[in-house]
Amino acid sequence: MRSHYCGDLRKEHIGEDITLCGWVHRRRDHGGVIFLDVRDREGLAQVVFDPDREESFALADSCRNEFVVEIKGTVRNRPEGTVNPEMPTGEIEVLGKELVILNKAETPPFQLDEHQNVGEEVRLRHRYIDLRRPEMQEKMRFRSKVTNAIRNYLDDNGFLDIETPILNRATPEGARDYLVPSRVHEGQFFALPQSPQLFKQLLMVSGFDRYYQIAKCFRDEDLRADRQPEFTQIDIETSFMDEEGIMALTENMIRKLFLEMKDVDLGDFPRMPYSEAMQRYGSDKPDLRYPMELVDVADLMAEIEFKVFAGPANDPKSRVTALKVPGGAQLTRKNIDDYTKFVSIYGAKGLAWIKVNEIENGVNGLQSPIIKFLGDDVTMAIMERLGAENGDIVFFGADKAKIVSEALGALRIKVGEDLNMAQCEWAPLWVVDFPMFEETDAGLTALHHPFTAPSCTADELKANPLEALSRAYDMVLNGCELGGGSVRIHDQEMQAKVLEILGISDEEAEDKFGFLLNALQFGAPPHGGLAFGLDRLIMLMTGTESIREVIAFPKTQSASCMMTEAPGEVSAAQLRELNIKLRKTP
Ligand code: ASP
Repeated sequence: MRSHYCGDLRKEHIGEDITLCGWVHRRRDHGGVIFLDVRDREGLAQVVFDPDREESFALADSCRNEFVVEIKGTVRNRPEGTVNPEMPTGEIEVLGKELVILNKAETPPFQLDEHQNVGEEVRLRHRYIDLRRPEMQEKMRFRSKVTNAIRNYLDDNGFLDIETPILNRATPEGARDYLVPSRVHEGQFFALPQSPQLFKQLLMVSGFDRYYQIAKCFRDEDLRADRQPEFTQIDIETSFMDEEGIMALTENMIRKLFLEMKDVDLGDFPRMPYSEAMQRYGSDKPDLRYPMELVDVADLMAEIEFKVFAGPANDPKSRVTALKVPGGAQLTRKNIDDYTKFVSIYGAKGLAWIKVNEIENGVNGLQSPIIKFLGDDVTMAIMERLGAENGDIVFFGADKAKIVSEALGALRIKVGEDLNMAQCEWAPLWVVDFPMFEETDAGLTALHHPFTAPSCTADELKANPLEALSRAYDMVLNGCELGGGSVRIHDQEMQAKVLEILGISDEEAEDKFGFLLNALQFGAPPHGGLAFGLDRLIMLMTGTESIREVIAFPKTQSASCMMTEAPGEVSAAQLRELNIKLRKTP
């Protein structure tokens, strides 16, 4: 129907007869002439109807916002003084000659004006309208371009796009599975994939050598702010490549993507061992845009009377650390109270601090409720270790290591943001040398997943599992994990050993992924890969605050869809067919 997109019209089209199709963005009656701003996915064009053409004029007059129209007309210069330099089509307008109303529209639940502040609930309930807004159109278009660039890169590098099944067997991969009842197999369930992990490994056993898939994954987790129950991964697996090869290939992919899409050169990504990241930044995904670091001071506090510090200082599972914030002495009591509340989210019981006013006067130049407990010598020794200068504030954390690292690690970023301390716009890095296992209340669990290869022998692993490192790597950008992966175990015995250490019995292993253990015995090549979170990547690249903004039809934080109202009840007949009887919660 259309000859041009509205948003594509420019000076060079002047004099052309054209046909536009789109939505009425706005109708203005300027005393005798009707202006319609017509919108399509490429932008807006101004169409003018004058009363000479009675029929089309009357139709234009009857148009309301969001009517769908087809317009024939001629492109012409805007009259002197009415050029709009803010609009890409602002130099021209269309003289409307024929107008067909293709469909009418009710008054939309909110204006599509980008300056309107509309509640997210309303937007999500009417997402099809929300997606008409230029900024949402732009995000979806950006996302499409990113996936296209990634496909091209992987295709150029010999990767094959292979689909893996959605209806699977439940596997222990960390999060809770979404289950689908089987009608044909009474009492049995499929699980939706948390990731295509095992299938991509099997594809390597099959000899495909380089696989990728832009794959939907499903995890039934209690949702935190930035999670979706279904999300998209760029899933990659290769054979006969070690971690160096895989990291180089994928780093290059992301670097190229940023150059192409944003004209940003991320440079070479530095590498940091996991232990160093935890030590210096309290996080396995450090945000290196902020220069501040955590400095451990347990050794200086070991002898003091004050239990709050001395306790953790003498406990090997605890940590006592300090965070020096340059310029932080300006923080008010209220600011500090807010930060205290903030760290309590991570389990910290308080937030001790020292302000540095006149360091040349020793402890007399410091201001803090805790100096009297630390004693002058210890206080000054801490100041010296931190290189404290006038105008600084020092925050302290003393508790179980996990709590301290998480709390002060998060505080570091929060204060950095609040005080505008970012030193660059983009800070990528690889975090490497992760431990194989971590200790939880339920025993040892795999830090990455149970198919990750250790960097030691099976015997060493067995002898000292908590000391063992894995061949896993995470790509981190601005404090977000963009992607993670590992070299996998391709040796059946090693795989059996890891499962044994994880406390998974032979029967359970056989039951849950006997197929993988079998496959490893039929000529599995050395292989490894990684997966990027596509939604998160787009979010970062577009500078968007919420992951929901870059997904066309996202779920809410309570894992439901405002528009379709999924999940919903099903009929008794459907349940009967599935042999499912609901137990009503009392
Ligand atoms: N399957 C892993 C994940 O979803 C990524 C990988 O190891 O390739 O996190």
